[in-house]
Amino acid sequence: MKKCLICSTPVKWIKFKCADGYVCKQCYEKVSANFTQTIKTKTKEELLAMLKDAQSEPAGTSFEISRKINQLIFFDDKNQQICLPNHKKYTKENLKPEIYSFTEISNCQVVEEQIERLVKKKQQQLGSIKVVLSLENETREIWLIPNYINRDSMAYKTMRSLAANIVAEIKQSKEDVAC
Ligand SMILES: [Zn+2]
Repeated sequence: MKKCLICSTPVKWIKFKCADGYVCKQCYEKVSANFTQTIKTKTKEELLAMLKDAQSEPAGTSFEISRKINQLIFFDDKNQQICLPNHKKYTKENLKPEIYSFTEISNCQVVEEQIERLVKKKQQQLGSIKVVLSLENETREIWLIPNYINRDSMAYKTMRSLAANIVAEIKQSKEDVAC
């Protein structure tokens, strides 16, 4: 019976051919970067080198979503970290998704700005809302209402309570780490 070149498990129906023989599904997953590369022309030596690379990937880069608040922020309770998806809609700048540990967050707060403006001949109270995260060496802003809108509108009220939720959940997460 044929055996996997890498782990020596007997391979039956599900096997993947490489230059020197066959590889089982489990090993193939590892040496093909999660089934994204073919191994047909790869030698055993090359596959072993790829396996080593796959296993030496830095730990701690994985993120498991335990909780989230819309698409604004994700929490990973197991690894005690948050992810800011940084959708352009909420950042006002181009950022890739970022991961921070709970302990890196030194402060977070809701910041509302308020102005008065004449809209359709009526004096209106307008506002913007963001959550400001203070991290060790930088600050991040999650914009919930980037452009001033009427403070009495439903959208404004919804976003204000979302902002408050974000702050409450971050503070709670930090406290859970502390004890
Ligand atoms: Zn194998």
